[in-house]
Amino acid sequence: KRRLLQELRGKENVTVDGQKVLIYANIGSPSDMGAVLANDAGGIGLFRSEFLYLESSGYPSEEEQFAAYRTVAETAAGKRVVIRTLDIGADKQVDYFQLPKEDNPAMGYRAIRICLTREDVFKTQLRALYRASAFGNIAIMFPMITSVWEVREIKRIAAEVREELKAAGIPYSEEVELGIMIETPAAAMISDRLAPEVDFFSIGTNDLTQYTLAIDRQNQKLERFYDAHHPAILRFIKLVADNAHKAGIWMGICGELAADPELTETFLAIGVDELSVSPPYVLELRRRVRETNVAEVREKLLAAFME
Ligand code: PEP
Ligand code: MG
Repeated sequence: KRRLLQELRGKENVTVDGQKVLIYANIGSPSDMGAVLANDAGGIGLFRSEFLYLESSGYPSEEEQFAAYRTVAETAAGKRVVIRTLDIGADKQVDYFQLPKEDNPAMGYRAIRICLTREDVFKTQLRALYRASAFGNIAIMFPMITSVWEVREIKRIAAEVREELKAAGIPYSEEVELGIMIETPAAAMISDRLAPEVDFFSIGTNDLTQYTLAIDRQNQKLERFYDAHHPAILRFIKLVADNAHKAGIWMGICGELAADPELTETFLAIGVDELSVSPPYVLELRRRVRETNVAEVREKLLAAFME
């Protein structure tokens, strides 16, 4: 079976009736790039940048970050690399941030909320990301968005960083796409308002499911109640896809659900542009896409959760 999958390297992600989808990979550190290339992913849909902060005993410097992002960008050799900014919180303990203990870390001071409070930390990461953009096709993605004002503030800070780099004569790409994770019900519900603000959406189904079903994703006791295929989640995904396409931006899914073989046809029926999965799932997903005739199943699959 592995050998048969290997024969799909270099092949297109296209359905029987000609619909295409991007299949990207999720990574957690530059050392995962070998697996990405071996499995022929079309790009990186989610590079979780937390490892830089978790492995370090103090704030990682701009140079350290730049080196890691540059390595990934160069190794990807022109393929799109979506790097997500810092997503830590009270659940992922990083001593030097001195985060107070919280009763509800999942709903607490985390991710973009830290970045918009600690602009110095945020700017250091953005400088490193923009500098690395001169060495490959980097896109920047922001986690845990709930409101339009957050996105506007992010864009203001990103513009300041570009101005500072320009003034200092430091090269960066003018083409860097800025996107957001859709992983809160609020963001999904107002995705029509968020779409005109950004270049792309990526749905984080791990958190979106947690917040929508009110189920702590780390609580084993709730497994029976954790319905990953809940119609509320599938409706959100369709809403987000429709709103993205109305605004002319691309959208994908980078949560675990993207790799769920039972949903591949449904995602194609919804019209998602990209699925980002752990590297070992890339070729299996390509196989499923190439076996699907979307036109034949679209109406039935959509009716299953829309009606
Ligand atoms: C998600 O929430 O689905 C996601 C991709 O991000 P993380 O798992 O890192 O929270
Ligand atoms: Mg998340």
